[in-house]
Amino acid sequence: MIFNEYPWLKLPFEQLAETIVNHRAHHALLINYIQGSGEEELINLIANRLLCQSSKQLEPCGKCHSCQLFLSQHHPDYYQITNEQGKQSIGIDQIRNISTKIYEKSQQGGNKVIWIRHAAFMTEAAANALLKTLEEPPENTYFILSDNHNSQFLPTIHSRCFCYFLKIPKIEESINWLKKIHNDLYSDNELATALLLSENAPLNAALLLQPENWQQRKLFCENLLKVLPQNNFWQLAKTFNHEEFFERITWFCALLGDALKAKQKVGRYIVNRDQVPLVRLLATKSNDEIISLYQLWLKAKNLLSINGLNRELIVYNVLAQSQLIGYQK
Ligand SMILES: [Zn+2]
Repeated sequence: MIFNEYPWLKLPFEQLAETIVNHRAHHALLINYIQGSGEEELINLIANRLLCQSSKQLEPCGKCHSCQLFLSQHHPDYYQITNEQGKQSIGIDQIRNISTKIYEKSQQGGNKVIWIRHAAFMTEAAANALLKTLEEPPENTYFILSDNHNSQFLPTIHSRCFCYFLKIPKIEESINWLKKIHNDLYSDNELATALLLSENAPLNAALLLQPENWQQRKLFCENLLKVLPQNNFWQLAKTFNHEEFFERITWFCALLGDALKAKQKVGRYIVNRDQVPLVRLLATKSNDEIISLYQLWLKAKNLLSINGLNRELIVYNVLAQSQLIGYQK
C-alpha cells in the first residue's frame, strides 16, 4: 500500500474511505492540495476504493476484477478529465462527453468515477454544465474534483461538493522522510530549505533535491555571491540557459525575502538556511533596493507565464534592470 511510501496520506485516506465503507460518500468530492503533497497518489487510491467491488475494509482489495481493471488503467467506468496540454482550460465539450456516458448503466455493474483534475480550469460554461449533473447526480456515480489550494472555483461548484483539504505533513516528519529517500545525502538545513522553497510539499522538495536540480540551485547561489559585490548581474546571463530562468526567479525572490527578514532581525524565519552568507550579503542592500529587485523579478515571472513572448529578451531585460537598480543608490 502507498502508506509505506507516503505515510502522511494514511489519515486523509482513512477519513475519506470511511465514508465509502459506511455508504455515506458524497457524490462530489473537491480536494484542494498543495502541489507535491501526494495528491495524485491519494486520489488514485480513493478512486480505486470507490470502484473496488469486493473490499469491506477501508482499503481496496486489489484483487477483484474491478481492482485489476483499475490497476491496469483499463477500467471502463473510470473517467479522467483534465486540461489539454498547453491549454489552461477545460471546455464544455469535455464535460458534455462525460455527462452522456454517466447516465448509462456502469459497464462493470459497480460505481462510476470521474476525476476532474485541475478542475478550476473549467470554463464557466463547463462548470455550469457540470453543475447540472451535480444537482441531479446519476446513481452510483462519484465525481472527484481536484485542484491547487489557491485556485478559484465558482461558488456554486463549491457549494455542491464535499470540500477536503489535503494537509501537508509537519516539517519534522517531512525532513525525516526526505532523509530516507535521499540516503542522508543532505544536511538538515538543506532539507528544510528545499521544503520551504516548495511550500513544504514533500514530493516537490524531493524533486528539488534531485542531485542535478540541487546542484543547479547551489551554482546559482555561488554565482550570485560572485556578481553581487560589483553589482554585475549581467554576468549571470552566461551561467544559465534562458529556459531555466523561471525557477531561478523563485530562488532569487526567496533570497530577497530572506534578506529583508535578516535586516529586520527575524533571521530565524529565513527560507534559505543553507545560504546564510549570501543572505547576509543581500541584506547589505537598502530596503528599497531589495524591494525593487523583488518586484522586477516577480514581474518577469508573470511575463514568462504568457505564451508567445520573447523569453530571452525578458531575461536580458531583468538582468540589465537589476544592474541599474544597484547604480541608483
Ligand atoms: Zn477490489
